Amino acid sequence: MIAAAGGDLAAERDVRADFPILHERTSRGKRLVYLDSAATSQKPQVVIDALDRYYRRYNANIHRGVYEIAARATDAFEEARAKVAHFLNAGEPAEIIWTRNATEAINLVAWSWGGANLHAGDAILVSELEHHSNLVPWQLLAERTGARLRFIPVDDRGELQLDTLDTLDTLDTLLEGCALVAIAHVSNTLGTILPVAEIVARAHAVGAVVLVDGAQAAPHMPVDVRALDADFYVLSAHKMLGPTGIGMLYGKRALLESMPPFLSGGDMIRSVSYERSTFNELPWKFEAGTSNIADAIAFGTAIDYLAAYGMENVRAHERALLAYAFDRLAALEKRGLVLYGPHDPDRCSGVISMNFADIHAHDLASILDTEGVCIRAGHHCTMPLMGRLDLAATARASFYLYNDRSDVDSLVAGLEKAAAIFRLA
Ligand code: PMP
Repeated sequence: MIAAAGGDLAAERDVRADFPILHERTSRGKRLVYLDSAATSQKPQVVIDALDRYYRRYNANIHRGVYEIAARATDAFEEARAKVAHFLNAGEPAEIIWTRNATEAINLVAWSWGGANLHAGDAILVSELEHHSNLVPWQLLAERTGARLRFIPVDDRGELQLDTLDTLDTLDTLLEGCALVAIAHVSNTLGTILPVAEIVARAHAVGAVVLVDGAQAAPHMPVDVRALDADFYVLSAHKMLGPTGIGMLYGKRALLESMPPFLSGGDMIRSVSYERSTFNELPWKFEAGTSNIADAIAFGTAIDYLAAYGMENVRAHERALLAYAFDRLAALEKRGLVLYGPHDPDRCSGVISMNFADIHAHDLASILDTEGVCIRAGHHCTMPLMGRLDLAATARASFYLYNDRSDVDSLVAGLEKAAAIFRLA
C-alpha cells in the first residue's frame, strides 16, 4: 500500500523486500546500508527476473527474425522504448534513442548535432557544477569547431547564480551568441535541483538548443520533457533500478531528423551499395549494430516498478528522508561536520555531501564501511566544482526509495564512531 506523500513510504511498503541485495550481510556480519545510489542504484527482483526471462525464454536478435521468439524479443524491446517515452512524456517512442548510458547520449549529441551545427566563435554554455560527462564532450567539441565554453557560476552552496549582483555574468549576457546550453537537472555532487525550465525558456529566447543531463533527476522526481521544453534529455538506466549498459537520449523529432548519424553500420541503414548508403528512420538511424536488447527490456521493467510506486512518491519519500537526515546530522556540526549544497530538502534531491573535521573523506568512507554503510568519497567526477569550492574531496551519502530512517541512523552512528576513533571533542 502506498502511503500519503511525506510518510515513511519505504517502511510502510517494505520496499526493501523487493531488493535481494539489501538482505545481504557484509563480511563483518553487518546489515547492508546502501547509501550510494547516486553512483548506481540497486535492482529489484522483478528487474533481475526480466533479464533472466529474456535469456531463458526468448533470446533472439531483434528487427530481423520472422520466427516467434525473434518477434517476441522485438516487441519487448520496442515496448520498453514506449514505456520510457511515456515515463518522460516524450511526444512519441521514436524520440527515444537507446545508448549505453548518459555519457554516450551526450557524446551522440556532441558529435552529431554539434558537428553539424556549431561554428567557430559560437558559445556553449554549461554550469560550474557539471559532471565530467557533461563537460568533457563539450570541451572536445569546442576544440574541433573553434567554439568557446562559458560557465554559469555557482555560489558556495552550489546554487546557480543566474542574475545576482555578485557576478557580471547574468544568464542573459552568458547566453549572447550561445548556440547550445548543456545543463544538469540535479547535481550529482551536491544534490542541487537546478532551475532547468527557466534556463530552457531563456536559452530558447536567443535561439539556443538545450541539452539537459537528467542522470540524477529522472530516477528521483517526475520529469516531463515536454513541459520542460528540453531539446535533448539524457539518462542512465543503472541509476534508476535498471541494468548497467543501457541509457537513452530523448530528442525532439525535428532535431533528430535533421542530425547526421553518429555510429554507423548494420541496422541504422535503409539501403547500402558499395559506394554509398541511405539511413533508417528514427529512432533506428542512431542505433548502429545489435542493441543491448536484454538490458533495454529489463529497463522497461524498472520503469514499470517506478511508475507503480509513483515518481511523486519517490520524491516525497526522499524529501522526508533528507529532512530527517539534516535534522540528525545537525548535532554533529558542532563536532566539525560540514555539509555542502543547499541543506534544504526543497532545493535538493537525495544527496548529502560532507566532510567531518579533518578526517579525510576516504578514511570516513572506510570507517563507515566497517559498519556496513556504503558511501562514496572523492571528487564525484566533478573536479572543476571541487576546485571552485576549494575542496579536495567530499564524502557523499545518497538516498533512494529503498532507504529508510534506520539507514540515516546507521550513517549517524558510523560518523559518531569516526569521531571517537579520531578523538573529536
Ligand atoms: N551526469 C551526471 C549528473 C551523473 O551523475 C552521471 C553519473 N554519475 C553521469 C552524467 C554519467 O552517467 P553514466 O556514467 O551512467 O554515463
